[in-house]
Amino acid sequence: MPAEKNSTFDVLVVGSGASGGWAAKRLSEAGLKVAIVEAGRPQSDDNFSEHKPAFDLKYRNMAPEIVRKTRPIQMKFDVCNEYTQDWFINDFDEPYTTPADKPFHWMGRLRMTGGRTNVWGRVSLRFSDADFKAASHDGYGEDWPLSYSDLAPYYDLVEKYVGVTGMAEGLEHLPDGQFQPPMPLTCQESVFRDRVKQKLGRTVTLARSANLTRPINGRGPCHYCGPCERGCVTHSYFNSAFTTVPDALNTGNCRLITNAMVHKVLMDPASNRARGLLYVDRVTRQSHELPARAVILCAQSQESVRVLLNSATREYPNGLANSSGALGHYLTAHVRSGGGSGDFPTLGGKHTLGAPVKPVGIYVARFRNLKGQPPYKKFIRGFGYEGESGLDFNWRAPGFGAAYKQAVLEPRASLNVTGFGEVLPRWDNFVELDPQVKDIYGIPVLKIHMSDGENERAMIQDMGDSAGEMLEAAGAKNIRTYAHPSAPRWALHEAGIARMGADPKKSVLNQFQQSHDIKNLFVMDASGFTSNPCQNPTLTIMSLCVRSCDYLMGELKRSGL
Ligand SMILES: Cc1cc2nc3c(=O)[nH]c(=O)nc-3n(C[C@H](O)[C@H](O)[C@H](O)COP(=O)(O)OP(=O)(O)OC[C@H]3O[C@@H](n4cnc5c(N)ncnc54)[C@H](O)[C@@H]3O)c2cc1C
Ligand code: SF4
Repeated sequence: MPAEKNSTFDVLVVGSGASGGWAAKRLSEAGLKVAIVEAGRPQSDDNFSEHKPAFDLKYRNMAPEIVRKTRPIQMKFDVCNEYTQDWFINDFDEPYTTPADKPFHWMGRLRMTGGRTNVWGRVSLRFSDADFKAASHDGYGEDWPLSYSDLAPYYDLVEKYVGVTGMAEGLEHLPDGQFQPPMPLTCQESVFRDRVKQKLGRTVTLARSANLTRPINGRGPCHYCGPCERGCVTHSYFNSAFTTVPDALNTGNCRLITNAMVHKVLMDPASNRARGLLYVDRVTRQSHELPARAVILCAQSQESVRVLLNSATREYPNGLANSSGALGHYLTAHVRSGGGSGDFPTLGGKHTLGAPVKPVGIYVARFRNLKGQPPYKKFIRGFGYEGESGLDFNWRAPGFGAAYKQAVLEPRASLNVTGFGEVLPRWDNFVELDPQVKDIYGIPVLKIHMSDGENERAMIQDMGDSAGEMLEAAGAKNIRTYAHPSAPRWALHEAGIARMGADPKKSVLNQFQQSHDIKNLFVMDASGFTSNPCQNPTLTIMSLCVRSCDYLMGELKRSGL
């Protein structure tokens, strides 16, 4: 394999998404020579289409069968559509497999600089010790090997840079952060917030979200155009493609290598150290080696663990850094198949075409199994809800002619909430390599085994029931609730499978996301999560990553790793 010419890197960072962008920024700003090795193409403002009307597209964004031809899994979540489809993998070129009785939709597989942060929902919530120490509270699983106080300064640092609009609520289990001024709530959201608090004592707040309401670092405040998942020319939401990655490149210490699909971490067995990476150029299909002093995987949980499984050696026959046997196990991903919706009085509001679109909804903080409460009988842990509201025309008005036209103009105000529930880490939810199947680059693919347990099923039922209870308390009409089994299983918040822990016999990484087995190998995406609390993961992914980078730099200085 040819080694890259003139490449002397201190650290190789695999992936340029939420975690990779931060790792590259933190390390290169401190003076280390870094390469970001990214499977996707370069991203640019020229690709953004948030202001492009559907009638400017060839198929008016109305021909899902065109997208389905190449991305039948990716398009199951509507952010993969005619506007954005070529940001995503081709599902046939880069497949994965599942057992026949455990279908799993692995969506959000981006192949662009910025990874999933190009299209993410931006909800940015802190975890607390109710999450990090949940095992001590209810006896299930393992505590995280760190506490809220270890991470709090890093949450501060990340929030200040990312820009999170939010309201302080003073909840111990959903700690407040360094918020930008909140975007206003709609009428329905305010009614829902006030009445749910009054009648049920539950907190409904603005969904804390990585959308700017004040300019920072040359990024403009949001101008409420709506479809952030198609990009943003004013850089008003957080996407690592136009924040952390350019910051890293601007240091002069970082190089971005795109279209570089990492196949393996290369080892020096004599010293038990990672010596670099082997990647396949997605355009030329040539393999290349890159040497470095340390390697950080930030490719998203399943992708990073796939690299480790594909990097097995004689010394680590079951996957690199897997002396514990835990690699690939304890896959978690939120359940979100329970919720509800209802109609609200319009309070004089009128819908107009082209009105501003608030890209941020509401969040209902977890209210089950908290400190000081008796344990909820049906399940352990808890769930929150994301919600959004709308003021629309009455498209379903009956009739025809002039009366129909009049009826359609009647505004309709609605609000819906979707539960996001914690899934317990279980050994038998796992990923492994499928010995039969390779992607078009010749790299073995994952087989994903994932199903819900009793706890998740009971939680989903409560998501539906409690949504109805809250909508009723808020005075909504035409309330509709749902609670489906989450099959086929899907998620966008996968975590675990290279878990952190204090005990190297039971975990893959230490609290700084450093491999217990190989000191110069780190995994800084959500693979290290010891559990997957109901709050969205990315703010914690980024904060942990910065903390682990600081540790890495300290270790490089202290011992050379
Ligand atoms: C539609 C959607 C909505 C979401 N909403 C939210 C939300 O509201 N709040 C929240 O907290 N989270 C949300 N998420 C999840 C969030 O986007 C992820 O948690 C976060 O981006 C993960 O960061 P990461 O660095 O692990 O991976 P990513 O951001 O996905 O970046 C990984 C990068 O690694 C690259 N890569 C993968 N494999 C390889 C390889 N072998 N070699 C080289 N490069 C590789 C990929 O191309 C990609 O660019 C959402 C995700 C999606 C898809
Ligand atoms: S709604 Fe705001 S953040 Fe989203 S694309 Fe428009 S301006 Fe950007």
